[in-house]
Amino acid sequence: HLRERSLNEVLLSRLQQGAEEPLLTWHERVITVSEAVANVASLAQYLRKEIGVAPGSRVAVLALNRPETLLLLFAAAHIGGIVVLLNTRYSPAEVAAVLEDASPCALFYDTATQALAEAGAAQLRSSFHMVPVDDLALQPALSVQEAAQELQHPAGDLATPVLMLYTSGTTGALKGVPLTQGNLLANVGQIGAAITPPAKAEALVVTPLFHAALIPSALVPLSHGLPLVVCERFSPAEAIELLATRSIAWTVMVPTMIQACLDLLGGDRLPSGDHPRFIYYGASPAPRALIEEAMRGLGAQLIQSYGLTEATQAVTVLSPHDHRVGLADAPHLLRSAGRPLPATELAVWSGDGTPLPSGQVGEIVVRGPQVMGGYWNRPAETAQVLVNGWLRTGDAGFLDEHGYLYVTDRIKDVIISGGENVFSPRVEDVVRSHAAVREVAVVGLRHAVWGETVHAVVVLRPGFTETPELAADIIQHCRNHLAGFEIPRSIEFASELPKSATGKILKRLLRERAPETIAIACDLR
Ligand code: ATP
Repeated sequence: HLRERSLNEVLLSRLQQGAEEPLLTWHERVITVSEAVANVASLAQYLRKEIGVAPGSRVAVLALNRPETLLLLFAAAHIGGIVVLLNTRYSPAEVAAVLEDASPCALFYDTATQALAEAGAAQLRSSFHMVPVDDLALQPALSVQEAAQELQHPAGDLATPVLMLYTSGTTGALKGVPLTQGNLLANVGQIGAAITPPAKAEALVVTPLFHAALIPSALVPLSHGLPLVVCERFSPAEAIELLATRSIAWTVMVPTMIQACLDLLGGDRLPSGDHPRFIYYGASPAPRALIEEAMRGLGAQLIQSYGLTEATQAVTVLSPHDHRVGLADAPHLLRSAGRPLPATELAVWSGDGTPLPSGQVGEIVVRGPQVMGGYWNRPAETAQVLVNGWLRTGDAGFLDEHGYLYVTDRIKDVIISGGENVFSPRVEDVVRSHAAVREVAVVGLRHAVWGETVHAVVVLRPGFTETPELAADIIQHCRNHLAGFEIPRSIEFASELPKSATGKILKRLLRERAPETIAIACDLR
């Protein structure tokens, strides 16, 4: 049961808590709740009248983190439009592909993204308004009273899509995921029910607003009354400075961002603030050392979330309590992604859709109010992933007898060698624990006898040389920690790994390379 009937009720309820309180800080600019309400209603009028946004129309934004992205989301929600957020690390061809697919009425860009926006738009025949976001001079045409009155009558309902995110394509083509007001509000409520951000503190936004992390990083704290401190982009120095000097009680990061903050702290501790500092992380579990160091150095209470864009964002969470229990006497818990959020059904299926008992690995499936209704204009792909309301996540994993989820791999990345399943993250953890290894990706290579063989592509730390002896040493290290069928049969050194715009390794590209590239790898068994 949702408290709100529309996304804008999140803003309107803030008026009662203090109209002149800050809603958001960005650089030196502070936007109060009443300013935001007036701006959102005025922007909604502008979108309707000047840009021609009607119910169902798309409005695209390609920008670094800034207040206008959020204000445009609320404004579009009011008139039934859909905000499409583009990744600022896309290539011009990817920008063009998304614009072609979403066919928006307008593209809003900022100074940093202008060249990319123009290069992307130049590849298209269709035309739309190109608007520098700075031109949306935030001077509301409506008073706060008029605006609040107006926002009480939204064009759509909970079933109306308001936000469209594109999945980054580590598994193939870019697909649009339209999310409804109901999806967003449900996931905000589910996350907030599992972990309540403390009131009377602030939230730090450092992950990109164009990613599903927008839900926990911005919408969850907004709905709990926390003002946002929005950083244009992540910088460890700025994050540390803000954590040390402001009353930040909530932030979202990925493990590599937490690591970058810890590296900068160099073993020091942040002064403890007046509030617990909740750090919500996702994309992968975090290594034990990082968890310990983040709790000590950053004074963090850690929450891990497993989720995917097709389920708005969050499906499970591993609570701060679970982290403490994991550190004390249940280390396996630290490899878990936690338990399902309220109103979320989680199961594991075999290939033919039969539910599997706990402990058995299969495809993770999820059903709940946060699950999308389908991809944008892709009925065939939708039919593949949505089965009677269940979303097939494409991730392999298992549930333990207490209902904790363990994500073992992406299904497409599971290597089947001699009939045995090899879960690449497990092999990667071991390879990465070798002193010479900075980054690694483990993929399956086709093999006439074994079906596939385990192949590791390794990026070395500075100071190490790519020699057959070092490769042999890495294999030896694996022998000490892995079963025979899991040990890489070949190691290849690379100067870097191909990554998607969100920083995930594109294993597809590693697998698809020409055989002669792979021949340089040394065969070691
Ligand atoms: P796509 O899934 O379409 O290839 P993507 O990686 O950008 O692209 P996202 O929705 O951003 O899609 O990421 C979701 C995926 O990230 C999940 O399906 C899962 O593989 C992985 N993931 C997210 N959280 C966790 C976690 N806590 N533990 C392990 N894996 C996770």
